Order: sequence, then C-alpha cells, then structure tokens
Amino acid sequence: MREEHMTGRKIGFIGLGNMGGPMAANLAKAGHTVKGFDLSAEAVKAAEEVGASAAASAVEAAQDADVVITMLPAGKHVIAVWSELLDAVRPGTLLIDSSTIDVDSARKAHALAEEKGCLSIDAPVSGGTGGAKAGTLTFMAGGSAEAFEAAKPVLEAMGRAIFHCGEAGNGQAAKMCNNLILGISMAGVCEAFALAEKVGLDPQALFDVASVSSGQCWSLTTYCPVPGPVPTSPANNGYKAGFSTALMLKDLNLARTAAETSSSELPMGERAAALYSEFDALGHGGDDFSAIIKLLRGDVTGEAT
Ligand code: NAD
Repeated sequence: MREEHMTGRKIGFIGLGNMGGPMAANLAKAGHTVKGFDLSAEAVKAAEEVGASAAASAVEAAQDADVVITMLPAGKHVIAVWSELLDAVRPGTLLIDSSTIDVDSARKAHALAEEKGCLSIDAPVSGGTGGAKAGTLTFMAGGSAEAFEAAKPVLEAMGRAIFHCGEAGNGQAAKMCNNLILGISMAGVCEAFALAEKVGLDPQALFDVASVSSGQCWSLTTYCPVPGPVPTSPANNGYKAGFSTALMLKDLNLARTAAETSSSELPMGERAAALYSEFDALGHGGDDFSAIIKLLRGDVTGEAT
C-alpha cells in the first residue's frame, strides 16, 4: 500500500456531520474518489455538493474502497458500522476511525478489523470544525506501524500534524488525556479570573502576569475565558462554540470511563466533569466550554446565552 499513489484512492466515508462533511470535502479536493454515507440525507446531499458521491448504505460506501473512514458520535456507532461493513470490504482494506470514542471500543474495533485481515487505525482529531474545514486538523493515531504508514498520506489531505501514539487505541488515549488536561485547566483559569474580579484585580492585569508566569497554559493564552486579552477567544463572541460544553463533557466522561476500567482515580477530572455537567444541565451545553466562567462566578441562569 505504501507504494501506491498518494492521491486517487477510493475512499468510503461514513458520518458526514459537522466534522466528517468538511473532511470528506478535503479528501475529494485532494483528488481522492470519495463515496459518502450518513443516516441524514441532508448530510449526504451536502457532501455531494462538495465533491463526494452518495452511497445508500455504509456497506455500499465501503464495498470497493481502498480506505474506509468513519466519523461518528460514539463507540457504539463505530462498532455497529464496522461490524456491518467488514463483511463487505476486501481483506487488506484500511479502516480509519476518526471519531472520539472510548479506548475499549476503539480496541474492539481494531480486533474486528484484524479478524477480517484488514489494517486499522484509531485517529481522533483536535482542531474542531474550523480545522476540519481548513484541512488543518491534528490527528493522533493508534495502530500498527504498517497501518499508520498507509493512513498517513490520506490523513495529510485533512490535517497538518499527524502523530503515531502507539498500538491500537492509543490515539484515543492521547486525545482523552489531552482533553482531560484541557477541561481541568480551563476550569482552573476560569476560577482564577472569577476570584480576581471579586478581589478587584483587573482581568487584563491577571492575564499580563499569568501569561508570562507559572500559570501560563493554552486555556489562558489562546482561549482566555474573559473578553479582551485574547481577541480571537470565544469570550469575545458571546461564548459561541468553538468547542462546546457538551463535547467537553463527552470527553471528560470518556476519561471517567477509562479511569473506572483501569482502576485509576481522577479527583480533578471528576470535579471538572461535575462543573461542565451542571452547566450543561442548566441549558448551556451548546455554549463554548470556556463559558463555564459564568458558573464559577455564580451568575449563571437556567437559560442558554
Ligand atoms: P455530528 O453529530 O455533526 O456528526 C455525526 C454524524 O454521524 C451525523 O451526521 C449522524 O447522522 C451520523 N451518524 C450517526 N450514526 C450513523 C450511522 N450508523 N451511520 C451513518 N451515519 C451515522 O458530530 P461531529 O461534530 O461531526 O463529531 C463527530 C465525531 O468527531 C464525534 O465523535 C466528536 O466527538 C468528534 N469531534 C468533534 C469535534 C467538533 O468540534 N465538532 C472536534 C473533535 C472531535
């Protein structure tokens, strides 16, 4: 597979939502032949408009493909779709799952592929819908070196940074641990800004100091949760997501599941998950996750902004 052309591959793409739609478009733009399927007819139509052809089922999308990519909501969807299409693909077909799912399901999916003599990688992404559209996603992949080498040129049409994190499931593990850091660090930054306001410290002054001191982190310097210091952060745009509270909660819950199955403790992760969960339950699941500062200030209401 390594010696084959980098473009002009036949790709089946299943799950053409907010992320999958633009990813499929970038594959078509790069010269691949993309056949897409989604349960939503609207999503399939949108993919057709950006260069993919429509399949009537996941099996049809995968049948003649060299590569099959899934971009689905959760582990149960990936297992169901892979189980169905693995009966239809040729042995040696490469399966790539870019959904964010639990590590155990990812490893189960790899085992299904191996049974059928297929190559597989889990390759979740970061970079959001903006990165999916721009083709600048970061991929973190788990699977054999052979599968990773085969997948890399395909992933390069959709992303900018591509990491091999180890064996099956380790892409999901890397994504989960990164987002655990993110969820906790954002809650910490928000807590500090809320306290600064209460004691009369100007948010810009806190930013100026902390951004060049030991409190420095991505949640502060790239995604500052108060308006002003970082003009591109969602705080300057009514906390329009960005990365929604609901998706952050999903990722923290994946970490909680992994902690349970690996007998680990997540004292900070549990607390962060409880905060995002409370904010979500108050109707703010669609707000950017940095809007959690409202909850930490104690000025959140039951209505979404
Ligand atoms: P989405 O809900 O917009 O898209 C998911 C699509 O999958 C939908 O169109 C749905 O109809 C389709 N689908 C569900 N079950 C299906 C099935 N059995 N067969 C065919 N299609 C099916 O979600 P999204 O934002 O595109 O996210 C997809 C994945 O990417 C999720 O795992 C999410 O956690 C992850 N992710 C999202 C973002 C983001 O910013 N949106 C960022 C990084 C990772």
